[in-house]
Amino acid sequence: MELKGKPNRIPFNEQGFFDIIIGGGIMGTVLIIGTGAAGSVTAQKCCMLPKTFSKVILANRTISKAEKLKKTIAQSISNYPPLEAAQVDADNPRLVSQLIRKFQPEMVINMALPYQDLSIMEACIETGVNYVDTANYESPEDPNFSYRRQWEMHDRFKIKGKMALLGSGFDPGVTNIYIAHAKKNYFDEIDEVDIVDANGGDHGQHFATNFNPEINIREVTADGRYYEDGIWKSIPALSVHKPFDFPAVGVKEMYLMYHEELESLTRNLPEIKTLRFWMTFSEKYLTYLRVLENIGMTKIEPVEFEGNKIVPLKFLKALLPEPSSLGISTKGKVCIGCLIKGKKDDKEKTLFVYCVKDHEDCYREVGSQAIAYTTGVPAMIGAKLVMENTWFEKGVYNVEQLDPTPFMNDLNKYGLPWTEKFI
Ligand code: NDP
Repeated sequence: MELKGKPNRIPFNEQGFFDIIIGGGIMGTVLIIGTGAAGSVTAQKCCMLPKTFSKVILANRTISKAEKLKKTIAQSISNYPPLEAAQVDADNPRLVSQLIRKFQPEMVINMALPYQDLSIMEACIETGVNYVDTANYESPEDPNFSYRRQWEMHDRFKIKGKMALLGSGFDPGVTNIYIAHAKKNYFDEIDEVDIVDANGGDHGQHFATNFNPEINIREVTADGRYYEDGIWKSIPALSVHKPFDFPAVGVKEMYLMYHEELESLTRNLPEIKTLRFWMTFSEKYLTYLRVLENIGMTKIEPVEFEGNKIVPLKFLKALLPEPSSLGISTKGKVCIGCLIKGKKDDKEKTLFVYCVKDHEDCYREVGSQAIAYTTGVPAMIGAKLVMENTWFEKGVYNVEQLDPTPFMNDLNKYGLPWTEKFI
């Protein structure tokens, strides 16, 4: 039985209890916009669950990528749901609305770039469908990414009776869920969190980024910002670093930087007084990045070139390997986790929750490296929980505002098993 968008009474569990379906449904059509590295993982994972995602539409600016993915899915996944490939320029909300009207999805998963968040959300409000993404809004002209303009859409989603689920990747996403899980199960109060992210993999290229090069370089070259003792502090980009011994990856130098989950977590869990985000980079990556920065190749202001205006970073992106092409050559492991300090019954405790994923295992399963995998799987899980009504709430929400337990269970089930230990 396919239920969509209107109140229905249906048997909800084996004990015969009933629940009211008001927003999503138990199953429905999903429109995935963006079929790059992470989007292709989300699409494959959705197609493995045809009882939830009863039809999958793959939309991309370059339609050949969506068509190629459609072919891959048809060849590799048995019992996949009906699939369509479509072209869309998601910078234009009118074109996104047209696409939504054509295919009537229950929800849109935005796996394109942060630049498209607002235009896709506008289209979702206009047409009355749910929305899921993995990265907060960023304007092409201003690298200061923020949730502010997405949060401002809360009442408009609520009035439409629809949900926007923000930041359902790994970091942000799973890291926020780890903290919500720790709060729910182990702490009366959380005081301090360090989010630590190590990529111990090697892709064999001189220089490449493991997710969209333009977004990655903007993020890494921005000034660092962190929250300490209830105060925001700024530092020059990559100027604070220290070694950390990551499970399965080993000791790596990690760098303090600003990351978007700091904005939502300080708002949604204000008891946390110190919150920092750390990421590892190899010396080789940093040397290349320094050279590119020094010669102006990472600038986002347009320059005049032979009568045309070009943005150096966009030009650089066109030269660099696409993250979706790195899966075949990447070896090694990633480890991402949260070190959470707080109190239970007035006793101090520190919990480390983390996930280790092997690049080659991910490639064997879905033809992608682990960064795309660790982003694409949580996007599917967030969408699944909204589709099933487990997480459905009217309005705009970050993942840490929902019950972490079903998400933590699904991480174990769909490829991102986690480990936790008190240290
Ligand atoms: P890719 O560059 O591999 O893929 C992006 C895709 O979006 C491409 O297929 C591109 O199509 C498409 N796209 C870009 N602009 C438009 C547009 N205007 N209309 C339609 N499609 C468009 O990037 P990734 O897969 O690495 O990253 C995808 C998203 O995931 C990004 O927002 C990134 O910030 C986020 N991310 C989140 C993480 C997390 O843990 N939360 C971690 C890593 C990434 P085309 O080829 O035609 O340009």
